[in-house]
Amino acid sequence: MTQITPQPGIMDIALYVSGESSLAGHQQVLKLSSNENPLGCSDKARAAFAAAGRDLHRYPSTDHAALRAAIGEVHDLDPDRIICGVGSDEVLQFVTQAYAGVDDEIITTEHGFSMYPILARMVGAIPVTVREAERRVDIDAIIAAVTARTKIVFIANPANPTGTMLDQDEVRRLVEGLPAHVILVHDGAYTEFAGNSDGGRSLVDRHPNVVMTRTFSKIHGLGGLRIGWGYAQRSIIDVLNRIRQPFNLSNAQMAAAEAAIRDTAFSAGCADLNARMRQQLRESLIRLGLDCDESFANFVLARFADPAEAGAADAALRMDGILVRRVSGYGLPSALRITVGDEAGCARVVHSLGRFMAERRGA
Ligand SMILES: *Cc1c(COP(=O)(O)O)cnc(C)c1O
Repeated sequence: MTQITPQPGIMDIALYVSGESSLAGHQQVLKLSSNENPLGCSDKARAAFAAAGRDLHRYPSTDHAALRAAIGEVHDLDPDRIICGVGSDEVLQFVTQAYAGVDDEIITTEHGFSMYPILARMVGAIPVTVREAERRVDIDAIIAAVTARTKIVFIANPANPTGTMLDQDEVRRLVEGLPAHVILVHDGAYTEFAGNSDGGRSLVDRHPNVVMTRTFSKIHGLGGLRIGWGYAQRSIIDVLNRIRQPFNLSNAQMAAAEAAIRDTAFSAGCADLNARMRQQLRESLIRLGLDCDESFANFVLARFADPAEAGAADAALRMDGILVRRVSGYGLPSALRITVGDEAGCARVVHSLGRFMAERRGA
């Protein structure tokens, strides 16, 4: 018998499942399973990444000053209250490690992002899952679930995989309903697709217990490089920096991210394309007889009659070389999450599902 045992909670972690990227027998796979940017990334980010290849022997900056300054300039934020991480996932991890431990409670919601319970288990904390109301985060249910052991509440807003969103007043009501010992993490991975949302920034300015996180993986199309950031009051950022590895981001990551965030014309173009195609895609799916909530992100959630029909639709899409995401693990067995592609990509999805529905329902 082995004498070495991992820390409590670790063996309860179910490994994160990422979107598939290849399909046997298909050369031209249309990957709509990971909410990636159909336009790729900014050319300026690509050039900055290539240039960074000249200095691979140099250690990167430990304080990310240039990248934080660029984020601060573009979003009009105080750079001293920004922390950068290996994807926003790492920032979420810093918050969890710094503020929760064994037998503490971390609140997530019914259809919440699957990283939240993984992070809770990582530190031996108990993930407490609160029901949603018709695929929308339910503020009152969260507030009612808080106990003396609650340390963190995680919400993504817009949410993944539902695409729904709480408005600013609702999020404010949530913060005001939480005791001062509980941190609200407002995960804004999809903020840029939500129109004029501030991503939780005004709440951070007013409350010492709010952390907002953002990512370069979605609107900036840099999921492969792994860069994200968080914004909170100084007291929290100071804590998180103590557990951050000094060289967590490479020169290439920081250079590409800085160029990407400064290329506001590219990001605005991506947001515009997404808004147009998202609306068209949703309307087309509804015309096919599917249920689809309004989405505020870069994907839509298509709801089928039952899990069997969702599975058959997924199989039909795969036959046509299209990969989307099954979301049974998120409590949505009858739904498929479909990333909003470019015009041609959305047309392929609608064509494929159109044929499927016609055969299925005998139209
Ligand atoms: C994609 C996503 C992220 C971003 O993760 P990165 O680590 O920054 O790539 C964070 N939260 C949610 C809800 C997401 O869907």
